[in-house]
Amino acid sequence: MTTPLTGIGVGNGTAAGPVARMAPPPPLPAARTVPPAEADTEAASVREALRHVAAELEERTSAASGDAADVLSAQAMMVADPALADRADALVHEGSDGPRALAGAFGEFRTALEAAGGLFAERVADLDDLRDRSVARFLGLPMPGLPDPGHPYVLVAEDLAPADTALLDPAQVLALVTERGGPTSHTAILARTLGLPAVVGCPHATTLTDGRTVLVDAARGSVEPDPRPETVAEAASREEQRRHRAESVSGPGRTADGHPVKLLVNLGATGELAAAAAADSEGVGLFRTEFLYLDREEAPSEEEQRAAYREVFTAFAGRRVVVRTLDAGADKPLPFAVSGDEPNPALGVRGLRTATRDPELLETQLAAVAAAAEGSGAEVWVMAPMVALPAEAAAFAARVRAHGLPTAGAMVEVPAAALRAERVAEACDFLSIGTNDLAQYTLAADRMLGDLAELLDPWQPALLELVRATARAGERNDRPVGVCGEAAADPLLAPVLVGLGVTSLSAAPNSLPEVRASLAAHTLDQCRRLAELALDAPDAAAARSAVGQAAG
Ligand code: PEP
Ligand code: MG
Repeated sequence: MTTPLTGIGVGNGTAAGPVARMAPPPPLPAARTVPPAEADTEAASVREALRHVAAELEERTSAASGDAADVLSAQAMMVADPALADRADALVHEGSDGPRALAGAFGEFRTALEAAGGLFAERVADLDDLRDRSVARFLGLPMPGLPDPGHPYVLVAEDLAPADTALLDPAQVLALVTERGGPTSHTAILARTLGLPAVVGCPHATTLTDGRTVLVDAARGSVEPDPRPETVAEAASREEQRRHRAESVSGPGRTADGHPVKLLVNLGATGELAAAAAADSEGVGLFRTEFLYLDREEAPSEEEQRAAYREVFTAFAGRRVVVRTLDAGADKPLPFAVSGDEPNPALGVRGLRTATRDPELLETQLAAVAAAAEGSGAEVWVMAPMVALPAEAAAFAARVRAHGLPTAGAMVEVPAAALRAERVAEACDFLSIGTNDLAQYTLAADRMLGDLAELLDPWQPALLELVRATARAGERNDRPVGVCGEAAADPLLAPVLVGLGVTSLSAAPNSLPEVRASLAAHTLDQCRRLAELALDAPDAAAARSAVGQAAG
């Protein structure tokens, strides 16, 4: 038997099928010296290669929608940047051959992005992908990218560039396996959005050869080569039961004995709006407004914001929309909102703190939200990210109410806010626990690092203690307490969170059916017992396995 490979599972699905790997990047041929008389022709071919890649990405942009379209159009813009073509042209005229001029120009842009850090540095993978495509075009080689074996396959890659994941056809791609990437990588987020099982951060995955059958089990984070037919059959029947269970319950979330738990969707871009609005949910539990501000030199105007918010509120008329005010900094860098020279941006002026430095940013946003909310039919709540102190929550709530918005809340993402949740709850109308950041700050583990996935595991008992402290403070003060981090998407963790006292869960629309079904399978008392089991466990793995066994 071959030992399974292991990594970080995304979602809970399983899938078996033949491996197909991404076409490898084109190798650079031996260097050529371009004589001055041929430089213009060589440079023209370089420009043609860049134009071709940009045009191809634009074509793919029009075929995509939502997140995928945003990602592709951002890539098309990068490769169409005249500064890039000019630099490659100059390198040719300095004597480089076409492929080296392209590699050189992309390399310089890459260094600049890496130096910018944060989200910009994550775009490095996009640039490498664009370089490979341009060089392949120049050399007349097949485009690196998605394989097309003519049958459904498990896509295996070292890492997936957004341009590829954006175009995945869920009818052809059974699962994703990548050597690199962490729980918050592009691959992981898009896999969740598409509802594909994935295992990321899986060492040696690319040693799996094309055509070899693997069984991908996202819940276990394992990739088993050459599984026995009975193992595949058993996984297929588990998968069938999982789907059946998820589809068997609909409507507002509740436990088996009828205790209501609001199930809400997370929304991060207007492109996701149609799917989010169509999902069976009671509204939006986390509307991440950063998408409006990203890739900009300055903040969007009040009018522009109002139009974007209005679209969302109208789509959710009759339901709740919890707007999270701008959360700039660290993993969401915005040059006009945060200073670029902090030694440790995750602990710097970020989230609500940017509103103290630049009060106009928040004022404009609140004015836009208030204007958009009026007459939209949606029940609009507003919450602040990265609240650390009760006084911050109180000041934020006062500013929100001054705009005529009646319901103001605080995200609990900083351990200090969880430990003093009683007072934070008194200072505002509701709390929403951001488990992604709360895990990062509680376990002192950078949320962007796949290597630290174990520490960032939402099953960490220390994190669950803080969830309980926050939920209890909410109960005592009669304030709803939701969870809107990735933890809310885990169907096994959902009853635990409810047992700890959480009143709503907000997750990607694809994740809600399983969460709903899981809640419906447990009474509130059972949820409380599962919560005790998780809290009593010595570590995250033990907590998950104890609850898994008890939940059946
Ligand atoms: C969180 O931190 O859990 C959260 C929901 O906010 P974000 O992921 O946008 O930081
Ligand atoms: Mg957060």
